[in-house]
Amino acid sequence: MPGGLTAYLRSLIAAEGPIPVSRFMAEALGHPEHGYYRTRDPLGAAGDFVTAPEISQVFGELIGAWCAVVWEQAGRPDPVHLVELGPGRGTLMADALRALAMVAPAFDAAAALHLVETGPTLRAAQAAALGARPRWHETIEALPAGPMILVANEFFDALPVHQLVRRGAAWHERLVGCDRASAAFCFEVSDRPSTLETPRIDAAAGDILEVGPAREAVAAEIARRIAAHGGGALIVDYGHGASAVGDTLQAMRGHGYAAALEAPGEADLTAHVDFAALARAAGDAGAGGVAVFGPATQGGFLRALGIEARTGALAAAAPDAKAREAVAGGASRLTDPWQMGSLFKALALIHASQPPPPGFEANGAP
Ligand code: SAH
Repeated sequence: MPGGLTAYLRSLIAAEGPIPVSRFMAEALGHPEHGYYRTRDPLGAAGDFVTAPEISQVFGELIGAWCAVVWEQAGRPDPVHLVELGPGRGTLMADALRALAMVAPAFDAAAALHLVETGPTLRAAQAAALGARPRWHETIEALPAGPMILVANEFFDALPVHQLVRRGAAWHERLVGCDRASAAFCFEVSDRPSTLETPRIDAAAGDILEVGPAREAVAAEIARRIAAHGGGALIVDYGHGASAVGDTLQAMRGHGYAAALEAPGEADLTAHVDFAALARAAGDAGAGGVAVFGPATQGGFLRALGIEARTGALAAAAPDAKAREAVAGGASRLTDPWQMGSLFKALALIHASQPPPPGFEANGAP
C-alpha cells in the first residue's frame, strides 16, 4: 500500500505530466499533510539521521558564544532577535542558551527568541526543550523587523533544488515521471531548455547541475534584514564552496542511504548546499550592506572557536572513562575531515559596519 504522498504524487504527475525534481523534493519534505518534516521527528538514534547538535553539546555552546560576540560587535542592540531556522529538536538552541546564561547574561536578557519551523512534531519538541520563551514562525518573511542574530544548521539542505541536465550548450530541467508499467517514479529530462538562472561553469553532455532558487531567496532575505537593521547570520550545512556539477540528491532512511525517488515522505531527501550560490545571493541582496565570510570548513571553524579547550574541560569534569570517551568522540566526529569536519561548512553574513566574526579570519576560511 503506497504512502499518502506516493498516491498524491502519482495523481499530480498523471494530471500535469512529469514534475521538476524541485517540486518532487518540496512535496516530499513539505506537503502539508504527508510531507516528511510535517509528520515526524526524524532526528536521533530511532530516526533517520543525526545532526551536529545531537552529537555533542559543545556545538550549540560554541555557536551560542559566537552569537554573543557578534551581538557585541553589532553594538549590543537591545532588544535583538535571536533567530533559528529549522531548529529540529531545539537542542542547539538549548545548549546555546545554557551557555549564554553563564557567559553572556546581557545578551541573553536582550534576546527575543524566534524559531522558524513548519513541522508540528518538531515544534512540540522545541517547546519541550525551550519552554515558553520562543515565538514560532512559518517562514523567515514572517519575522519581525529589527537587528538579529540568526543561526541555521542543516536547514538549507532541506530546501528544494532543481536539477538540470546538460545537452549541447543548454541546460534542460530534470523531471520526475511515473513509469507506466511499474508505477515507480523515474527520472526524465525536459525537451525544452530551462530558463532558470545558472552559474557559468564548465560542463559536458549529461552533467547534472543543481540550482536552488528557494535557498538563494532565503539567503537574500537574511541579507536584506541584516543590511537594514544590523546583526549577523551563521549558516552551517554540508556542501561545496564553489558551484560545480554533480548529482547530490540523496535520501536517508534509518541512518542508511535510500533511492532518491523510492519513498517520498518516508525518507529525508536533501542535496548539497552550493555555498558560492548562497554567498552570491546574499551579497547581491545586501547591496553593499552585508559582508560575506567563508565558507570555512566546520572543523576549522569549530577549532577557531575553541572546541578543543571546551571539550578538554568537559572531559576533565566527566565522571568516568566512558563519559570522557563520549565527549572526545563527539568532538572528533564534528571536526575530523573524514567525518563532518570538511564536508560541512560555515558561512557568515555580517552587517558591513561590523568586524569579522569569530572563526573567520580576514574574510576567508581559517
Ligand atoms: N537544525 C536542526 C534540524 C535539522 S533538520 C539540527 O541541526 O538538528 C531540518 C530542520 O528544518 C527541521 O527542523 C525541519 O522541520 C526544518 N524545515 C525543513 N524545511 C523547512 C521549511 N521549508 N521551513 C521551515 N522549516 C523547515
